[in-house]
Amino acid sequence: MIPGAEFIVPAAYFAAAVMFIYGLKGMSSPVTARQGMIWAGIAMLLAVLVTFIHPKVEGNYGLMLIALVSASGLAWWWARIVAMTDMPQMIALYNGMGGGSAAAIAGVELLKMHSGQSDMATTTLLVASFGAIIGSIAFSGSLVAFAKLQGWLRKTWRFPKQQLINLVVFGITILLALIIFVAGPSPFLLVLFFGFALAAGILITIPIGGADMPVIISLYNALTGLAVGFKGFVLEIPALMIAGIVVGAAGTMLTQLMAKAMNRSLTNVLFAGFGKADEDAGGGEATGEMRSIDATDAAIQLAYAEKVIIVPGYGLAVAQAQHKIWEMTELLMSRGVKVIFAIHPVAGRMPGHMNVLLAEAGVDYEMIEDLEDVNAQFPNTDVALVIGANDVVNPAARKDPSSPIFGMPILDVDKARNCIVIKRGQGTGFSGIENLLFFEDNTRMLYGDAQKVSQQLIAGIKSLG
Ligand code: NDP
Repeated sequence: MIPGAEFIVPAAYFAAAVMFIYGLKGMSSPVTARQGMIWAGIAMLLAVLVTFIHPKVEGNYGLMLIALVSASGLAWWWARIVAMTDMPQMIALYNGMGGGSAAAIAGVELLKMHSGQSDMATTTLLVASFGAIIGSIAFSGSLVAFAKLQGWLRKTWRFPKQQLINLVVFGITILLALIIFVAGPSPFLLVLFFGFALAAGILITIPIGGADMPVIISLYNALTGLAVGFKGFVLEIPALMIAGIVVGAAGTMLTQLMAKAMNRSLTNVLFAGFGKADEDAGGGEATGEMRSIDATDAAIQLAYAEKVIIVPGYGLAVAQAQHKIWEMTELLMSRGVKVIFAIHPVAGRMPGHMNVLLAEAGVDYEMIEDLEDVNAQFPNTDVALVIGANDVVNPAARKDPSSPIFGMPILDVDKARNCIVIKRGQGTGFSGIENLLFFEDNTRMLYGDAQKVSQQLIAGIKSLG
């Protein structure tokens, strides 16, 4: 053991924990977010490095190095090549890995106890079992969420007595945890226990789709944090405990905010179908016809408007049109048009997706408004320009009680004097349902890839002199 390690290690873990919290605070504002990430990254590096001299880590350096180098290399490479639009899937997967590793460590500790290599106190055993349940659910649930976001799993499975079956599976998992607690862990019991916990995660997630996906993703984020916190308790590593608790608390708040934004309670998300993302999606028939507009006419409408509200959505991210849109916005502003951006809390495929894109393009934060503040402004707006957004502007959420998204707060672009929607064709949004907005009298469809159309709009506005 390195001399003084028993003091250096806890001191370094403490410093790392403080930096985690400081980093998280930085992430609360877009201005300081990058700095916050750097602080959290340094904290993580410190915590990892100091673990090499932890008094309890004996030998195994080779294995630790192999795991570290290969995993960091893979993560570094993947993060560099991943498309911005695939970021949510990557986060769901990493989330799952965090939960899975917390569950695996709990499993190893329980096995060690069985083979007499460790003697867990009662509380530790309880915490390890809870960590295992939560981590396993977050692991398998996040993998299902990953498959849904990746488009590998398009169906939302619903079957009779589904909630009852879920409850039974979850109940058996808890029962097995209690048996392990009373009778002690055995390999057979552990396999059964983990099998049921993993099944619970899958069963909870398969019926969830559409507008509920953001809520469930942030819930798994919170659960992973909690599982990691429990793992820190079992391994007696305070930095892990604090990091886990911080992620758990932040994730819980995010879950609440997302649920509130969708006008849903967590119980509803977990136990009542909403936002069916597949062929069984219902909703009333749209009447009327879609009317298109070309880029030249759209440019004229925008250039001679007094006020324009731009609503970005997932399609903007796919097309990477944020820079072109900002260029167009600057042109409009130079002509005296008042332009603001309206961001729906679940636009795109991850919390804050649109904010990140607009910030990357250089859009001033002051020009970005959220749902509560902006909706009252649509009736006084000349043009609402919807770019690659669909579900978040679907008036069916307000008008059609039979719609799967009925009750979800939306951006009221249909109340603007004119609405122009940029999209490539007849594609539906994530929830897979028809959008009543496209059939409104004041809506015009501007078909094409968002980036190409933005370029045409720029050319059109410039040509007006
Ligand atoms: P949607 O997914 O509802 O719609 C995106 C639209 O963009 C599509 O209708 C598509 O139509 C169009 N599009 C795709 N590619 C392009 C392109 N290159 N150029 C122009 N248009 C394009 O997006 P929203 O942002 O409105 O809504 C987000 C949805 O995702 C919500 O249902 C939300 O619940 C869900 N979700 C959100 C998460 C989050 O955390 N934010 C996480 C998981 C799900 P077309 O094919 O015709 O071009």
